[in-house]
Amino acid sequence: MKIKLSEYKGVVFDLDDTLIDRKKAYSEIFTLLYNEHEVFNSKLTLEESLSFFWTLSPNNSIDIKYAFSEIKLKFPKFKLDFEKFYRFYYDNMINLVKPYDGVKDFLLQLVKQNINFGVVTNGNEYQFKKIKNTGLEGLFNFVIASEIFGYNKPNIEIYQETLRQLKLTSKDVENVIFIGDNPYTDIIGAKKIGFKTAWIKMDFEYPKDLSPPDYIIGSFNEIEI
Ligand SMILES: [Mg+2]
Repeated sequence: MKIKLSEYKGVVFDLDDTLIDRKKAYSEIFTLLYNEHEVFNSKLTLEESLSFFWTLSPNNSIDIKYAFSEIKLKFPKFKLDFEKFYRFYYDNMINLVKPYDGVKDFLLQLVKQNINFGVVTNGNEYQFKKIKNTGLEGLFNFVIASEIFGYNKPNIEIYQETLRQLKLTSKDVENVIFIGDNPYTDIIGAKKIGFKTAWIKMDFEYPKDLSPPDYIIGSFNEIEI
């Protein structure tokens, strides 16, 4: 069954790996890190290093403190301290990340057709910089970044705020669709409040222990307006 956004009173997108290609930027960032630090490139091939670096980002999201501590554990001679690593990661991310092909035109169509839509993303002010650098600024009715709001997905508070930003009430929850790639944050949280859910599967299988989304899609390209 096709998703038709004009049938909904509200549409909510996750940002990373839903509208913008975080996965590609992630690989580029850790290729840079590999090339710049002997502690990796003197011991391992790029491929071996990347396969380790990918273990730091389960479900398409990174806990930067955890990632740093895992790198230090495996490579005690890694020279960057946490602050420098944090800046290396996020500064490169905002510069390297690109929207998926066709995203901007797709969002412009939503604007033109008066779809009520916004973004709900886990993260801080860097999320706004990503939106700006990918040319998507000003297209959304609202953007909620969890660390600025105060609650991360999948906490119910961020979905209650989403309803408020959509100018809808709890009576309308079934008329809202949430589209995202992370089962544990996007889908579970949105289901908790009663939104319809569309999971972007990337290369993963949906976890068997979680209640399934309403739709499973390969990318935003499969969504109709
Ligand atoms: Mg995501």
